Amino acid sequence: MENGEKYYLRLKYATDTDIKRFTKIQAEANPFDENWQIYFEEREELKIRNELKGRTVINRLYKTQNGICPVCGEKITIDTDFRVHQTIQNNITLKTLVHPWCHRKLHIDDEENTLAL
Ligand SMILES: [Zn+2]
Ligand SMILES: [Zn+2]
Repeated sequence: MENGEKYYLRLKYATDTDIKRFTKIQAEANPFDENWQIYFEEREELKIRNELKGRTVINRLYKTQNGICPVCGEKITIDTDFRVHQTIQNNITLKTLVHPWCHRKLHIDDEENTLAL
């Protein structure tokens, strides 16, 4: 998890400064290595945030969830920020909006679940 953690923190920092600058894929990154799971998910999320179509997806998810994070049951707001968690069920990719810290928790609790993307 050490490498994933490192890049996660880098991306987190990048979100505060310049979103686009850090989205370039790292040469050694392997999408099939579960250590990179969060890293790729965060990249996907940055893409979603940057695209108009992506914002529609976020708005739809937000409405579907009534603005509630399914992990802790608390409201997701501009202040709390969010992450887009993806899981594959029956070949369908499900996206869920969760708090950034709840997202970390999901991946720590569920490390052996290789289906989580
Ligand atoms: Zn939460
Ligand atoms: Zn996730």
